[in-house]
Amino acid sequence: VQVYGRQSQEALDGAVEAAMDRARELEQIFSLNIDSSEINYVNQNAAKAPVHVSDDFYTVLERSLYFARLTEGAFDPTLGKLIRLWGIGTDDARVPEPEEIAPLTGRCDYEHVLLDEQAHTVFFENDGFSLDFGAIAKGYAADEMKELLQEDYHIDSALLNLGGNIITIGNRPDGKPWTLGIADPSSPQPEEDPAVTLQVTDLTFVTSGDYQRYYEAPDGTRYHHILDGSTGYPADSGLSSVTIITQCSMDADALSTASFVLGQEKAQKLLQSINGVEAVFI
Ligand code: ADP
Ligand code: MG
Repeated sequence: VQVYGRQSQEALDGAVEAAMDRARELEQIFSLNIDSSEINYVNQNAAKAPVHVSDDFYTVLERSLYFARLTEGAFDPTLGKLIRLWGIGTDDARVPEPEEIAPLTGRCDYEHVLLDEQAHTVFFENDGFSLDFGAIAKGYAADEMKELLQEDYHIDSALLNLGGNIITIGNRPDGKPWTLGIADPSSPQPEEDPAVTLQVTDLTFVTSGDYQRYYEAPDGTRYHHILDGSTGYPADSGLSSVTIITQCSMDADALSTASFVLGQEKAQKLLQSINGVEAVFI
């Protein structure tokens, strides 16, 4: 988190600390790696009875279900069990047997998550799935950190890099637009070696790619971490990365993952139907 302004050093440090605190608060809600997180509680209980959830949780789940329907499941927040089965990015990563994958494939469980806006509850209509917000929560965190910096700390120039999710506030401190690079996946150091650079003001850049998190099987085959719920296997749409450039980082996060699964042709069609969204496909 880099913030710039005429405020005192102390005030700017306080702003950064507050943004980081907000991120830690959201981690306690959305992390599957924290036993006591809200998402773990919901996953363990929502098939038994409706579970009351926090505003943050409700907001992200509602938007996730919206994008699941819009993309016909290319982005699907109910792939938790399939994602855990593969375990890509964890020490337990492996290539599951077809018999293990089959029951978790082609399910469209996002149609079976019931939200009650009045009661602020979530209910799962069956217990065959769990939620995973890995493809959207970071975007939401970026939006929330930006809003907090602007509203509560009057920051009008900042750069937040959450790893694959970048969000900017205003311009650089010298008044010029920010220059952001999109990694070259074919380079040995993709992040240091941009394929494209772009000038942006007040926008977010979110990339989904196959080159950061993957599991290399003993036979040398690479399996990356974005799964296609219709096949049960890592998406194989001919793309190496998709970067979405727009204003809302949560939307960009969901759309980058969905676009990666859909492939360039279908993704382009989808993105053209949404206002204010640009994309770079590699
Ligand atoms: P990153 O996590 O590298 O920023 P993404 O935003 O594309 O990249 O999210 C990938 C993560 O989202 C995976 O690690 C997994 O937790 C989850 N995920 C994998 N496939 C899907 C999918 N088709 N729809 C929704 N979430 C997914
Ligand atoms: Mg994403």
